[in-house]
Amino acid sequence: MILVVEDSPDQQRLVRQMLETAGYRDVRTCDDAPEALEIVRKNIDQMEAVITDVWLIDGSGIQLTRDIRKIDQLRDLPVIIMTGKEGPEILPQAVEAGVNDFLFKPFHWMELIARIRNNLRLKSEIARRVAREIELAAAKDELREALSRFEEVSHQDALTGVSNRRKMDEHLEREWRLAQRARRPVSVVLIDVDYFKEYNDQYGHPQGDNCLRIIARVVANGVHRPADLVARYGGEEFILILPETPLEGAAHVAEVIRAAIEAAQIEHKGSPLGVVTASLGVAALLPEKGYEPVTLIQNADRALYQAKKERRNMVSVSREAL
Ligand code: GH3
Ligand code: MG
Ligand code: MG
Ligand code: MG
Repeated sequence: MILVVEDSPDQQRLVRQMLETAGYRDVRTCDDAPEALEIVRKNIDQMEAVITDVWLIDGSGIQLTRDIRKIDQLRDLPVIIMTGKEGPEILPQAVEAGVNDFLFKPFHWMELIARIRNNLRLKSEIARRVAREIELAAAKDELREALSRFEEVSHQDALTGVSNRRKMDEHLEREWRLAQRARRPVSVVLIDVDYFKEYNDQYGHPQGDNCLRIIARVVANGVHRPADLVARYGGEEFILILPETPLEGAAHVAEVIRAAIEAAQIEHKGSPLGVVTASLGVAALLPEKGYEPVTLIQNADRALYQAKKERRNMVSVSREAL
């Protein structure tokens, strides 16, 4: 529907005729602002454009435009304002109110039709783009979901490329059973980046992610045997599974990795040390009856807690159940 708001009956009739001659069938007219707003409100979905005079019997076209813009669905509704002798002085106000276009009386019917056509085209273009944006957003969500499903079934951590937690669980379970038969110890090392929350706060989350990638690489460089496994355990936590490795050997690997992380010299203004560091907890167990893999991780976690409490950037070794 095209609504024409005009208080001069002659002018109103003229504009209606112009529009109908050009083939626009759904044309409504009225002569004051409150009625216009009422019509617009009742026909939100049908509204195509409003053509309004500047001065109306009751109110003004500019105020009408402001009121229309307050209706969320009509933020992009084309509003064309017709001005007479008021001339260009009202233009700034009108633009600010959200008027899309102007017609200076008297105008040729071609001018009116051209304005209407352009504005309707613009409106449908905007609608198409909004629909496209919504589609794109939905596609993005779907992609993200698919990615996280994929990650679940895969064995790799998407951010760092090391193994994920699921893979770590499987690996530990298997190595545990093998070690049981061979009566050999299994070690784990838990690695937790120091003051990482501050790192994100200071440098931003994307840079935090980068930092985790670098640390993952440094950690992965610290293990060499085929059965050793590096996994991302949680947000900024990594874990090493070291089969057939006694506590001393695991402590040595942990110390080498701690030193390598410090030596990487990743700037960290929020840390007392000035660079990114990590704390490490080491534990070893002979997989005998009564012990489960989870005990091993719990022991390493307690050692890690010790390291955090003492001074960070250090390796702490569990003395439990050797
Ligand atoms: P602490 O020295 O005691 O370990 O301090 P912390 O700040 O490292 O420890 P805390 O466990 O309180 O915070 C861990 C932070 O790691 C929380 C979160 O901001 C950040 N983090 C966790 N996962 C990610 C991730 O995937 N990417 C990034 N950029 N940051 C992460
Ligand atoms: Mg942590
Ligand atoms: Mg922590
Ligand atoms: Mg931490």
